Amino acid sequence: MRDPYLSIVIPLLNEEESIPELYDRLTQTLEAYSRTYEIIIIDDGSRDRSFELLKRYHQEDPRLKVIRFRRNFGQTAAFAAGFRLAQGEWIITMDADLQNDPADIPTLIAKAEEGYDIVSGWRVNRQDKFLSRRLPSMIANRMISNVTGVHLHDYGCSLKVYHRDVVKEIRLYGEMHRFIPALASRMGVRVAEVPVNHHARKYGKSKYGISRTIRVFLDLMTVRFLLSFDTRPIHVFGTLGLLTTGLGILIGLYLTFVKLFLGQNIGERPLLMLAVLLVMVGIQFISTGLLAEVLARTYYEAQDKPIYVVRETLGDDETAATPPLAVGGRP
Ligand code: UDP
Ligand code: MG
Repeated sequence: MRDPYLSIVIPLLNEEESIPELYDRLTQTLEAYSRTYEIIIIDDGSRDRSFELLKRYHQEDPRLKVIRFRRNFGQTAAFAAGFRLAQGEWIITMDADLQNDPADIPTLIAKAEEGYDIVSGWRVNRQDKFLSRRLPSMIANRMISNVTGVHLHDYGCSLKVYHRDVVKEIRLYGEMHRFIPALASRMGVRVAEVPVNHHARKYGKSKYGISRTIRVFLDLMTVRFLLSFDTRPIHVFGTLGLLTTGLGILIGLYLTFVKLFLGQNIGERPLLMLAVLLVMVGIQFISTGLLAEVLARTYYEAQDKPIYVVRETLGDDETAATPPLAVGGRP
């Protein structure tokens, strides 16, 4: 069994009021659960007293580790930094605002130990506004499930458990953290779902508004593309390109026939425009596909670059703070 057995990864932005309660409730639950653990809190550029508080807790309790970003890099970057530092066999993610309940952790872990790589929390009684939150989220969950083939009721729930192999493998960009189960499906993971508690936000305000919906939708397109075609983009773009060019050529041939054999004028026919357009668009598709092939190669072969800059790491063992090695590496 790895030591620590559990790593709890928590992104945090301006949540000074929640920190004492969060720490107390986590510690209570985890000590009662008697597994070794570490708590990794990522201060994502807070402007309140969050970091000072966390520092104090860390000095009392080395099981609490703190990564402090230089500025606000977003929740996904915070997860990525936490994953990098995490030593545990199981990585648990949750929010810092007490909307997730630490008491659910043992249930999730028990499920994971049955043989799952990912166990997702499902906020059955979600305590958020209906119109701006729950409704868009319901639609998003349906769409994400259908498009990615990984059926979950609650992609947006932060409280999830991942086996370390999953998070060590996955590279996160943009705001992709909610898609981890879908992205991980490429690795052939087993995913389970467990109902969890959810509480209304007690302190402070949510960091997101309705505009998140559009970003989720765009991210979904990216994920879909990555899932099916990331290593062979020419298959998507090439197929589209061949179809459109082919159709354009067929129309062109027809028009040639009309002109040469029937002696009609084709100069003013809308079809002519369509034929030209289809051929041009088709060529664009094919070139995009070829470019994407080159990009895909660069992507897979380039060295890992972190998507954040760490100011300092408390209680670290270097992994998160160290930038990728220069050529030659460490002695
Ligand atoms: N958070 C963060 N960086 C950000 C935005 C949010 O670390 O740029 C943290 C925030 O402190 C909280 C969690 O991510 O712990 C979820 O954010 P929030 O509660 O605002 O989202 P909601 O629950 O309303 O979806
Ligand atoms: Mg919240």
